[in-house]
Amino acid sequence: MCEEPLSHRPLLLPQDLRGRLYDGFIRAQEKDFRIRVILPADLQLQNARLECSWQLKKVLHGYVHVVKQRLQQSQNLGSFMMELKTILDAALKSTNSIEASPAPQYYSSLVKDIETLGWDKLLFVDNEFSTIKLKMEDSSGRDHVVVVRLGAGYPYKAPDCCVDLPVAFSISWTPQTNIQDIYNQVLSTLESLKGFWDTLDEIDTKTWVLEPEKPTRSATMRRIAIGNNVSITIDLDPRHPNMLPECYFLGADHVVQPLKDKLNSNVHLWDPDVGLLQNLKDILEIDFPSKSDLKKSDFTMDCGICYAYRLDSAIPDQVCDDPHCAQPFHQACLYEWLNGLPSSRQSFNIIYGECPYCTKPITLKLLNKPF
Ligand SMILES: [Zn+2]
Ligand SMILES: [Zn+2]
Repeated sequence: MCEEPLSHRPLLLPQDLRGRLYDGFIRAQEKDFRIRVILPADLQLQNARLECSWQLKKVLHGYVHVVKQRLQQSQNLGSFMMELKTILDAALKSTNSIEASPAPQYYSSLVKDIETLGWDKLLFVDNEFSTIKLKMEDSSGRDHVVVVRLGAGYPYKAPDCCVDLPVAFSISWTPQTNIQDIYNQVLSTLESLKGFWDTLDEIDTKTWVLEPEKPTRSATMRRIAIGNNVSITIDLDPRHPNMLPECYFLGADHVVQPLKDKLNSNVHLWDPDVGLLQNLKDILEIDFPSKSDLKKSDFTMDCGICYAYRLDSAIPDQVCDDPHCAQPFHQACLYEWLNGLPSSRQSFNIIYGECPYCTKPITLKLLNKPF
C-alpha cells in the first residue's frame, strides 16, 4: 500500500484525555481549512459533530449528505478524514475553488477581526456570516454571550448587539469600529456591573431563591425564602447594588408585620460597605434558611384549593393568617372559593370570608386583578 506524504494528511490533534475532541486542519488544493471533530460520549463516529470554519462550510455546502454518509460508513476517524479530504478536493475543483470568487472586503475584514480577537471567542457564525456569537468572561469568571447581527449596512451602519444585561446597552459606532472594539465595549459594560452580579451570585448560592426559577443575567429581582410560606422580594438597582433595594414581604400578616417593623426601625443600620445579604440579615435580625439544611420544596407549599404550586405563572401568595393554619392559596383559587360562599362579603376591593382549611376569618385583597 502506498503511503501518502505526511504533509497531505489531515492534521488533527486530540484535545482531551478521553479522545472526544479533535482540533486541526484539513488540506486540499493547497489550502488549509480549520476543523474540529467532537465525538459523543460513546465515541461512535456516526454521531460525531463537525465544526468547520466558515470557508470550509462554504466549500462543503451541497455535500453535506455525502459527508454524513461517509461519517456513517467510515471505520475510524483517520479514514473518515481521508474521505473528507477527497470530497473537499472534488468540491474545490468543481466550484472552481473559492479563489475564483474572492471573498468580498466584508468577509475578509471580518475574518481578520475575529482572528485578532481569537477564534476561541467565537461561539457561532451563520452561513451568511451575518450573525456572530461571541463568548466573553468577566473578571469574576462569569460567562456571557454577545450576539452581533451585522446587517446589510455594515460597517457603515452599527451592527445590532444583544447581551443579557440589566441595563440598556448600545455600542458607539463609526465605520472604523471593528469586532474587537465591540468586544471591548461590551466587556467594560460587563465590568461596570460586577458589583451587581457579585451581589446576586452570593444570594443565589447562599439562600433559597424561589423566583425567578432560573434567573437570567438581566434579572434584578429575587424572591428569597425566609421560612415556611414567608419570603422577601428584593429588586436591585443594577448601578447601586449595595444600596437598600425595594423590599416586599409575602406571607401571613402575623409573620410579615414584625419583619416590616424591623425593616423600618433598623433601616439606619444599612451599611453600603457590607454586602446586601449581610445587611438584610442584620436589619431583619434573621438568618436565611441555607441550601444545605433545607430543600426548596420546604418553602414552596402547594395551594390548599387546587393542590398545585404554579397556576399559570402565579404562586400561592395568599396565606391564612391563623398561625396554626398558615395554609397558602392562589389569589384566583381563593377568589373563586370565597365568591361561592354565601357567608362571604365584599367591601370595596376586599373580600371577607372563611379559610377553606380552618374556617377562621380570611381576607383577600384584590389589588390588581391577576385573573
Ligand atoms: Zn390554587
Ligand atoms: Zn386557615
